[in-house]
Parts: sequence; C-alpha cells; structure tokens
Amino acid sequence: MIELNHTHDVGARSWVASANVAGCDFPIQNLPYAMFRRTGSPEPFRGGVAIGDQVLDLAALAAGSHVNGLALDAARAAALPALNDFFALGQSAWQALRHAVFALLHSDAPAVDDLRGCLVPQVEVEYTVPARIGDYTDFYTSIDHALNISRLMNPDGDVTPNFRWVPTAYHGRVSTIGVSGQRFHRPMGQAMAPGAKAPTYQACARLDYELELGVWIGQGNAQGEAIPLERAEAHIFGLCLLNDWSARDIQFWEMAPLGPFLAKNFATTISPWIVTMEALAPYRQAWTRPANDPQPLPYLEASANREGGALDIRLEVWLESEKAREQKTGPSRLSGTSFRHQYWSLAQMVAHHTVGGCSLNPGDLFGSGTISGPGEGEAGAIIELTRAAQTPVTLANGETRGFLEDGDAVLLRGWCEKPGHARIGFGESRGTVLPARG
Ligand code: CA
Repeated sequence: MIELNHTHDVGARSWVASANVAGCDFPIQNLPYAMFRRTGSPEPFRGGVAIGDQVLDLAALAAGSHVNGLALDAARAAALPALNDFFALGQSAWQALRHAVFALLHSDAPAVDDLRGCLVPQVEVEYTVPARIGDYTDFYTSIDHALNISRLMNPDGDVTPNFRWVPTAYHGRVSTIGVSGQRFHRPMGQAMAPGAKAPTYQACARLDYELELGVWIGQGNAQGEAIPLERAEAHIFGLCLLNDWSARDIQFWEMAPLGPFLAKNFATTISPWIVTMEALAPYRQAWTRPANDPQPLPYLEASANREGGALDIRLEVWLESEKAREQKTGPSRLSGTSFRHQYWSLAQMVAHHTVGGCSLNPGDLFGSGTISGPGEGEAGAIIELTRAAQTPVTLANGETRGFLEDGDAVLLRGWCEKPGHARIGFGESRGTVLPARG
C-alpha cells in the first residue's frame, strides 16, 4: 500500500488560488485525472488534472519542458485521448507524475507564469469516459444493501448463504457507460405484475439508481496468473463515482437464474474525475469482519488488508426533479453514508476476480456494488429508502418519490476528510431520466 508522503501534507498550498478555498474538492493534495477538451471544440480529448477550478492540460504539459524522465513518459501517455496507456505504466509512473505535478502547482514553485498557459477553467471544458473500458464488472459487496433488499421480501430475511464467503458480482455492459451529464430514456422491457399470469412489455415503472464507486484497473494480469491479495491494490489506479441505474420491475422478473440483464444495461453514469489511490491513502481504515461471521478464506486474507483495506469515503445521493429545476429550488439530499462499511474490500474484489485465471486489463472498470450503511438514511438505492415505494421520500419542494420519475436528475457526491489531513472530493456524477421511447 502507498505510504503517506509530502503530497499529503495538510499545509501544502497551490499558487492556483481556488485550490486553497475551504471545501474545494480539488486542493493540491488531490490531483485527480479526467479526459477533457474545451466544450464544443474540435480539439482532441486529452488527460487533465484538476486543481481548484482549473484543469491542468497534460498535453500542454508534455509538450513543454516542465517535466522529465518517468514523469514525462507518464504525462505523454496521459495526454492521449484515453488513459489506458498511462494506466499500463504502473504505480511508479503514476507516482512520478503526481509528484511532478504537485511540485509544479505548489505555492513555492518557480516558473509559475509558464504554467498558466497549461490551465483551462473547468467551466469551459467537457469530459468524456476517461479510458477505453474493455470489461465492466459490478460487485455486490455492501451487507447493509443486501440485507435491506432481502428484508423487502422477508422481514426476518438474511443475505444469501454465499454473501459472507464470496465477493459476488456479474459481468456488465460497457457500451452504455457515460460520463456525468448523461441523459437516457427510461428503459422498456418485460415485467410481471404481482398475481399476473403473464408479463407485459412496458416502460419501466420502478426506476432506481445505485450509489457506487467505480474502480479503475491500472496494470492488468495475464490470463491464468491470479493477482494475490497482497499485491491487489497496486493494480488499482483510482476511484470515481458510479451510478448503476436499475430497472427494478424488469430486474425482478428477468434475473433468475442468470442475473441482471436489461435491468442494468441501458445506462451507467460515472463522474469524470478519477481520484488516485495515492490521494486516498490518508483515509484508510482497518478492515474488520464481525467475530461471529465467517472469516475470509486464506486467499482473501492479508495483514495489509486488515490494517488498511477500508476507505472512509463519504458519499451522498441528491435528487433534482424537473419541477425543482424549473423552480430553481435545487436538489434534495436523499441519503449519505461511507464506503468504510463495505463488507468486502477493493483488494478482495481484485484478488477474487482473478483467482480463477481471469485476466484484467488497463482500463477495466469495476462497480463496488451499491454502498449502503447500517443506519437510517444511509441507503444507496431508492428501493431501500422507500421500501419499494411503501414509504415515499419527500423532496424539499414537497414532491414525493417512491421510484424515479421522468425528468429526475440524480447526483452523486463523494469526499474524504479527516483531522490533520486535507479534504479531497470526487466532484459530481449527474444523470437525468428522459421519458421512455416505447
Ligand atoms: Ca449495482
């Protein structure tokens, strides 16, 4: 795991003044990556690093003489229209570029005037999916989410017998993954009404979101060569916000026995910024397993995972209805929790994914699985919050929701904060539901 170093220094300041504003998602301790260009321009997309309200253009940086050696190799790779080659360079190159960018953006940096030309205001840019995603796997690793869903069917219900032994997942669909700002039509599909004798073909009536983190795979592994738990985190480049939109009525009819299909393949929205594992290092926590629960099998057990396998990433879901947008009353907060409650760690997801011989490639994406916490108001999906529309939530303008309605925008936000360390944020993931086309 990555050691804390000078790039985590809470006292560090940037000459980019907006990076030093309290509550800013992108202080100099963060330095996340995205794929951007000036909005509506014919420019190629290229990698950028967020600093305050600006983007450091890595193509401009690589073309200049500000960085050299491994950091220059990394900047050149990150300047391409997808981050896959940069991911493939591995941890030492990622660290070299982070440390070089930190030095250049630091308030003590010389030659600041030369660098101003490498900055583009975030309000002037648009983003795209930051890498060519080869494969997408969505996990199911929150025990509170799994229990909430199980208890909708049976108040005394428990998770399935495998949940406490295996980090379960399904292989998902890449073609409909979009970056924040994604708008999609309410999906059509089959649903079976309670007591009905035959399903109907209809627009989804139970549209939901799922609060998740996206896990970007950096270096991969060869087919047949499993990644051991001790080395698993070195294969993760960083994390983004991920909304796994879910059509619950379609899902509950179609998913036996092979799992979700149309219920999950119509849209997935990710935040443009990837927060690196190095930036997240200060917010690690011990990974624990209740004493009465099964302890992990040996291939899912390691001391480093026990000591720091959990991450305290605060997460929130907000909903802005079409009416709230028209009235300019703003979004309503639906829930908030932390990723630290997750039953299986990121390293365990990587190790388990590969233990049978499956290869991962740079730019593969995992969903963490819906992130729900143990308390009231910590649910990561509306089906949990409203107990499948039995107890609707009330928005700030008085509207109520059991499931999502047309025009609803769902916003995910995430950040880390801890005494003695900087607050770093993930920015935002926003997706909007359009009416069905059926
Ligand atoms: Ca999911």
